[in-house]
Amino acid sequence: DQDEEKLKEYMDELEFLAYTAGATVEKRFTQKMSQPDSKTFVGSGKAQEIRDYVKEYEIGTVIFDDELSPSQLKNLERELEVKILDRTNLILDIFAQRAQTSYARTQVELAQYEYLLPRLTRMWTHLERQRGGIGMRGPGETEIETDRRIIRDRISLLKDKLKTIDKQMATQRNNRGKMVRVSLVGYTNVGKSTLMNALSKSEVFAENKLFATLDTTVRKVVIGNLPFLLTDTVGFIRKLPTQLVESFKSTLDEAREADLLIHVVDISHESFEDHIDSVNQILQEIDAHRKPMIMVFNKIDDFSYEKKEDDDLTPSTRKNISLEEWTKTWMAKSKYPTVFISALTKENFPEMKKMIYDEVMKIHISRFPYND
Ligand code: GDP
Repeated sequence: DQDEEKLKEYMDELEFLAYTAGATVEKRFTQKMSQPDSKTFVGSGKAQEIRDYVKEYEIGTVIFDDELSPSQLKNLERELEVKILDRTNLILDIFAQRAQTSYARTQVELAQYEYLLPRLTRMWTHLERQRGGIGMRGPGETEIETDRRIIRDRISLLKDKLKTIDKQMATQRNNRGKMVRVSLVGYTNVGKSTLMNALSKSEVFAENKLFATLDTTVRKVVIGNLPFLLTDTVGFIRKLPTQLVESFKSTLDEAREADLLIHVVDISHESFEDHIDSVNQILQEIDAHRKPMIMVFNKIDDFSYEKKEDDDLTPSTRKNISLEEWTKTWMAKSKYPTVFISALTKENFPEMKKMIYDEVMKIHISRFPYND
């Protein structure tokens, strides 16, 4: 049924995130509840089940697909006696591994401290246990206060640093002059970098993992005789930690300040419709949702519509629909210019380029009405 399907997709994504962070997943646990348990997120029976499994198979880490409250985290750690990660922490970890410029590193560090601050007591409990606990409470409490102060200082330092870089980046964007600015947006792993490479003929790092792109890349692209700037933005993802939305504001500024958005969608992914919603929601959050946009449905080479025997993933919307029929329904649905391509095989590239050319030209003409 549909709930089951969604649940599996969410768990697939979490597993993919874990894989991206460098972990292998041994087992999944799920539980249906009207709302998460306020103390331990899962119910006590489920917690026991996880605990038994973790003990038996010597599992190192348990990952939860939601952000856990500080006390849930603490309780779970105590109960399961294993390292606990939540979705936010996992995503932060991936960003930390992948941050390449000092700007990205500063952003991630800030987000990590902001995540850490309300959870400091947990660290303390941990330390207390290591040291034997008894008699340590007094100095320990002071220690936490000191740690908190240090972290708060660090946070304001990082914020100042970011402000300075933000200003520099804004200046840089201004200095790029009057060229039309186009931003690739889209869920993570949909093929933005691949498309960027194909359009600009330069090499941008592309791999089949989440968040290959952390830092914005800017390339000059020429279609016809029309030059414009193309930027690749950070991968958007469902439940992007709020700490990150805030600290990646200026990466997202590329999208905010773009003249035209190219929204790339991976149609081979079973939940591409959810992905479109997530991206649109983030665009709304950064107030970029009223911009001209082109919808690029990518990976048509990988589109499969025949329901296989063992395939429980095929969404109802795509059952027995050919690519051709399917593209027609989406063309009709979309209020934006829409094109279906493969960034790998370059199928329908001429059509896409024409579409980009037309949209860029419109902006160009509105900006220089008396030229040409
Ligand atoms: P990004 O995270 O949106 O920048 O995505 P990437 O460009 O890094 O691509 C993610 C993965 O999808 C890589 O393994 C690409 O090779 C693959 N990919 C990109 N475009 C296509 C396509 O048109 N067809 C297929 N089959 N795979 C693609």
